[in-house]
Amino acid sequence: MQIDISSLESLLQKADKVALVGHFNPDGDALGSVTAAYHYLKGRGMHPRIILPSPYPDNMAFLEPDDPQDRMLICEHDLDGARRLVAGADVVICLDLNRLARTEYLEEDILHAPGKKVLIDHHIPAELDRFDLAISTVNVSSTCELLFWILLAMPDIDGDTGRIGARCAESLYVGMMTDTNNFSNSVLPSTFEMASKLIARGVDKDGLQEKVLSCYSVSRTRLMGHLIKDKMKVLPAYRTAYMLLSNKEKDRYHFKPGDSEGFVNLPLAISSVLVSAFFTENFDSQYVRVSLRSKGTIDVNRFAARYFNGGGHRNAAGGRLYMPLEAVPAYFEASLASWAKEEKFL
Ligand code: 5GP
Ligand code: MN
Repeated sequence: MQIDISSLESLLQKADKVALVGHFNPDGDALGSVTAAYHYLKGRGMHPRIILPSPYPDNMAFLEPDDPQDRMLICEHDLDGARRLVAGADVVICLDLNRLARTEYLEEDILHAPGKKVLIDHHIPAELDRFDLAISTVNVSSTCELLFWILLAMPDIDGDTGRIGARCAESLYVGMMTDTNNFSNSVLPSTFEMASKLIARGVDKDGLQEKVLSCYSVSRTRLMGHLIKDKMKVLPAYRTAYMLLSNKEKDRYHFKPGDSEGFVNLPLAISSVLVSAFFTENFDSQYVRVSLRSKGTIDVNRFAARYFNGGGHRNAAGGRLYMPLEAVPAYFEASLASWAKEEKFL
């Protein structure tokens, strides 16, 4: 992979304070990339801080920086603090997002921030012109993979994975592992190359897998059973399956952030299912979160953009619906029918 690193390097050379911003509902790739960038910049003697719009799942807490003063700042806990960090940064680096609106609260702050703005992302490019420097490609598994190749190309690392710090390497591996669903989707030859280099560097693959992927409660596993057995609706004519998760069910199964991670993938294990959708009622019921997955060339990114106020990747996308959960099945089935006709995917 060819990455022109000189602009990034010269930008960083002039900087000290860096704000690292991830997306709303941060997943493993968002967390992995902001923390990996944090460790790298800290190692260069700079003052990076991480800002996340909303809290992260408990199983990712081990990624927190050790320095208590550098704990990840959550906008929903301290929006003024987040705004001050953005306004005071020499450089603002957005990771794992393609639209500033994915920061939920900080779009205007970042736009008007006096510092330089950098994007490092693997989604379909959308707002490259809003950044002074945008490193964006869809030809990688994850933002963490892109960041790995960027770091390797930096003059101080100079292609030597051994010079990537242990915590940084661990974060990069976590993001790649989670975004590929542990090497099952969006995996490219470069992804295995990255994994190979990181494992040779000492990353504890089995330990991270256990920490991040085998971390769930009994009630979460029972919730999964309930959804598959009682909630999954299969639409054979559209080779589609979908599930809804209500606030009541969340309460019944002691739902915690991150508990529904991966549920949307489950129906894809059915050979006849090509599209899967998962709808989650938001705790304050202001909107319904939409998660979409597909197999092969079926493009749920376009589906999400057209009908669900969102976007993402070809085979994994998300969005929001501003309607009660009860209204979602009719809306979804009607949208699916129109979309299937438009895209002729059946
Ligand atoms: P997930 O279904 O795992 O939440 O998200 C799958 C993909 O869709 C991720 O790559 C994520 O970036 C994208 N995505 C999820 N929610 C939204 C959204 O509300 N807006 C946009 N533009 N993308 C989203
Ligand atoms: Mn990602």
